[in-house]
Amino acid sequence: MSGRAQLMWDDQVTAYDFGPGHPMDPVRLKLTWGLVRAFGLDARLKVVAAPPAGESTLELVHRSDYIAAVRRASADPLAAQGGSEARYGIGSMDNPAFAAMHEASALIAGQSVGAAEAVWRGEADHAVNFAGGLHHAMPGEAAGFCVYNDAALAVARLLESGAERVVYVDTDVHHGDGVQTAFWDEPRVLTISLHESPRTLFPHTGWPEETGGAVAEGGAVNVALPAGTGDAGWLRAFHAVVPELVAAFRPQVLVSQHGVDTHVEDPLAHLAVSLDAQRVVAEACHRLAHEHAEGRWVALGGGGYAVADVVPRAWTHLVGIAAGAPVAPETAVPQEWQEQVYALTRGSVPARMTDGAAARWTGFDDGGYDPASRLDQAVLATRRAAFPLHGLLP
Ligand SMILES: [Zn+2]
Repeated sequence: MSGRAQLMWDDQVTAYDFGPGHPMDPVRLKLTWGLVRAFGLDARLKVVAAPPAGESTLELVHRSDYIAAVRRASADPLAAQGGSEARYGIGSMDNPAFAAMHEASALIAGQSVGAAEAVWRGEADHAVNFAGGLHHAMPGEAAGFCVYNDAALAVARLLESGAERVVYVDTDVHHGDGVQTAFWDEPRVLTISLHESPRTLFPHTGWPEETGGAVAEGGAVNVALPAGTGDAGWLRAFHAVVPELVAAFRPQVLVSQHGVDTHVEDPLAHLAVSLDAQRVVAEACHRLAHEHAEGRWVALGGGGYAVADVVPRAWTHLVGIAAGAPVAPETAVPQEWQEQVYALTRGSVPARMTDGAAARWTGFDDGGYDPASRLDQAVLATRRAAFPLHGLLP
């Protein structure tokens, strides 16, 4: 069960840089690419640099006045920092303007669009862009460290190319609000987001009751997990919601977003998941693509702010899984990569490709659910809101 895979990579994606002190440090991308190479995974798949997304592609999701604002901020970041583009979400603490902001953002978007094109045309079964997954960007506004919504653009390109059914699964700790918004009224797209509850985390949306617009009822699915959920609960929730919906929707392509800010060490959130559980979810997405989408799988990165300790290991697992050359959890991280980490961060990293977690869970359907458990209440709220809209029993 594997297929021809491609990895989207252009060194210039690391120019997506909001500056010193910002959590979205591009060193996370450099270190991931470094670890992929240290394991020789770049020889196990085709590495491709796609061109940046052009105006007409960006306009599949974004408003032209917003794109113009990003271009202005890109050319004159100082003015944007002074507030000239504030109504577009640019120049805030989360989304500071920087030189070449448009170019770097369009390049990342281009990698996700290129990944979608390669999979749709059959040039690859799986395509990974770990620099992508910028799921908070709205049609007319930057948000949550995201300028152009490459995930929504990849899905939009699939629709434009003729896809009739696409499933988007978002396992970032934050709600995939920008992608949900882009396809709220689009019956050809099912967006499923599992995230920490809107009660405790940005962007404070993603309630189970958000199920899509009138012409696309059931097209949005949200699982709002309690803070502190942990591996067993996170995996239980994923398996209680995602596989049945994917099977019912019968997608032609699966697009998944693998933000790894779910991790217990992540500084911005509180879901307390391990690297091992993240690896289980990456494998599950791979399997779902083979079972229900003839292997067509576009896998994206996303959030993740433990930039050396967590992100590179998690996404290297993702690349290995897509390449059909999975890295065993107990594998030691290569010495040369530890040296790269030290050179770039002056820090050290965990020695193995595991957190040593068992990453076990019990299924929702075997053994029943516990009405007193907040996790089970959250899962059940989602199933009650969404499952009947897909002809499934909650
Ligand atoms: Zn996130």
